[in-house]
Amino acid sequence: MKKLLAVLFVAFGTARMLDAQTPRDTMASVIRAGRMFDSEAGVFLPNREILVRGGIIVQVAERVDRPAGARVVDLSSYTVMPGLIDAHTHLLYLEQIGGNLTMEGVKALVNEGLPLRALHGAARARTFLDAGITTVRDLGNSGRFGDVALRQAIDDGSVDGPRMIVSGPGLSPIGGQFPGLKPGYEGLASDEYRIVRNAADAADAVRENVTMGARVIKIYSNNTPNLGYLSLEEMQAVVAAAKVHGVRVAAHATNDAAVYRAALAGVNSIEHGYEVADSTLALMARKGVTLTPTDIDSVSFRKYLKAQNPGAPEPPPVQVAGYLAQGRSRLMRALKAGVTITAGSDNYIDFKEPQGFAAKQVLLAYRADGMTVAQVLQAATINDARLLDMAGRIGVIKAGATADLIAVDGDPEQDFSAINRVKFVMKMGTVYVGRK
Ligand SMILES: [Zn+2]
Repeated sequence: MKKLLAVLFVAFGTARMLDAQTPRDTMASVIRAGRMFDSEAGVFLPNREILVRGGIIVQVAERVDRPAGARVVDLSSYTVMPGLIDAHTHLLYLEQIGGNLTMEGVKALVNEGLPLRALHGAARARTFLDAGITTVRDLGNSGRFGDVALRQAIDDGSVDGPRMIVSGPGLSPIGGQFPGLKPGYEGLASDEYRIVRNAADAADAVRENVTMGARVIKIYSNNTPNLGYLSLEEMQAVVAAAKVHGVRVAAHATNDAAVYRAALAGVNSIEHGYEVADSTLALMARKGVTLTPTDIDSVSFRKYLKAQNPGAPEPPPVQVAGYLAQGRSRLMRALKAGVTITAGSDNYIDFKEPQGFAAKQVLLAYRADGMTVAQVLQAATINDARLLDMAGRIGVIKAGATADLIAVDGDPEQDFSAINRVKFVMKMGTVYVGRK
């Protein structure tokens, strides 16, 4: 008897632990949306219903069929949008304000360690769902494939988080993004980046990463704050190998020469592109290379300055405005040149708030930069979906797409801060926020 009780206890204990994660929803749902963002047309439509079954959107209309047993989810006082996509995240890396990449990176490798980084990543993953971000493209700084482990845990349902498209270690020139490593310690960079020696090695690195579970390739056309760069031949070898495997290439590139070479090599997206010239933007537009402007919004930037200098007075508005103006000018020039904007936060700074929330603030930066509400939301839905090679499956509310849906309180067209009032989040038909 005693033995039996022990067995029962273990069984219940296990069940309780599994309950800590959100159980998958299997019943059909009819979602009543007060307003709905049509990401293909870039317009908000009043009073739509969405029928979801088996994790898929099966019908969108003013009134949809009501299968027997379907639950009705009343979101008629909210705006319903496709689940947001963040095309540039680092779930396994968060650095203290005022830290530098070398010291914080080494700390993550040797002090935090990969198992704990993955666990921290799991906790952060939930905050992305809470923020309404249902898919992320996670671009490295996750040690040796900690990102793949986290993605597997999310996919098997043991961790709540967004769908992850992960890169594994980014392909970088020697030194990675760790400037100042002394002779004998270069190996630290190889624990966080895949150091590339030549074109053949670059192609090898693509094969390695894909074999280990990467579904996108991240490269550093220039590896700021270090001084190295990948050659055109190396990046061409990466692009060719990636094509064979059917994966896309994202290039970190900050100065114009780095952007130019990466675009010429045929990468799919330029990350950052802070100093890109108009002529290079024209090349990107011609070749269909998108720009992910990882800009910061004014509130976060002020928070950053204050945290760097706790005792200092409020940063002068001119300092804040001057910094933000650079990003704005580049973003507006890109739009004018016809470059597609893809949304990505690159949030890896600890703002002492949930990382998913901090990441979403990049959309406020785009809005402040002068993009329309529809343009911003398209960047974070349909444009990102196309970049991820998932057009028609995510970033859109229509029959056949995956049921990734969010609802916000308010009308983002009138008041864009509504995107921070997330009341409902569904990923693949399972409700993570707003469960009744
Ligand atoms: Zn990044």
